[in-house]
Amino acid sequence: DYMYIMKCSQNGIFTEGELRQYGPIELSPSSGVLNYGQGLFEGLKAYRKEDGSILLFRPEENALRMRMGAERMCMPSPTVEQFLDAIKLTVLANKRWVPPTGKGSLYIRPLLIGSGAVLGLSPAPEYTFLIFVSPVGNYFKEGLAPINLVVENDFHRATPGGTGGVKTIGNYASVLKAQKKAKENGYSDALYLDSTHKKYLEEVSSCNIFVVKNKVISTPEIKGTILPGITRKSIIDVARGQGYQVEERAVSVEELLDADEVFCTGTAVVVSPVGSITYLGRRVEYGNKGVGTVSQELYSALTRLQMGLAEDIMGWTLQIN
Ligand code: PMP
Repeated sequence: DYMYIMKCSQNGIFTEGELRQYGPIELSPSSGVLNYGQGLFEGLKAYRKEDGSILLFRPEENALRMRMGAERMCMPSPTVEQFLDAIKLTVLANKRWVPPTGKGSLYIRPLLIGSGAVLGLSPAPEYTFLIFVSPVGNYFKEGLAPINLVVENDFHRATPGGTGGVKTIGNYASVLKAQKKAKENGYSDALYLDSTHKKYLEEVSSCNIFVVKNKVISTPEIKGTILPGITRKSIIDVARGQGYQVEERAVSVEELLDADEVFCTGTAVVVSPVGSITYLGRRVEYGNKGVGTVSQELYSALTRLQMGLAEDIMGWTLQIN
């Protein structure tokens, strides 16, 4: 029903935001976001606990990631406190849309855009921070269903020194074509390789990737070209807590094809098992129809935490009512 909007002018300070009925916003044709892509977004979820209260999962991580991205995109950003207050206010105003426990969640989309007018190439003089929400069902309705990925060999999502490490809107525009091609060929999504060697895994269009071999879990390290996923970071801690060895390092496409199990992580997919990988026409299928024991175990541990069904020893959930 409601969206949140907060503006900031020349001084870079955001002032009192407000809730408004969800609907179109007015934007100058010469705004920074429309002309030069000055825009960042975030994605997080609110879950309902069995007692009816509402939980956010590590929202301060989204606030910090937006601040980091804003620095890269020459934009001012709300403080962590402003971000969290705005999220809470928006979720509470829309609380009737938070589904019951186990039936889905409320997806929250914060956006930061250059709304001021520019003509020559330069950062916009004014910025707008917005939040809108939408209820979403569980990604997996009846048990985990593996996804089929194709390794993309022509298009890259990011290059060293580029903006791959931040959640800027242009990164998503640049993957649309590879994603469309993957879908047209019957795959769920594309998996990108590093642009320097075309050999090491980066990530999928909207999630991070993990491979499991002999119970050791490996995932590409954060080095500026992949998004530092909050689910990625959480899964690393959960897995280590359960006694797994987890390595953050360069993971080659050969290791991927030779893995026992592969899974993706992200706010939308949580933990999603990969059933098959196709690389240069060669298709590899993983055991147990792709639903490996490690993905199952980690999926269940994380979703139980997010829904308030497991004890939150890490202090990752924030109850807002
Ligand atoms: N990589 C990309 C490119 C993404 O868009 C996302 C989704 N935000 C992720 C990884 C996963 O990040 P998170 O776990 O924070 O949702």
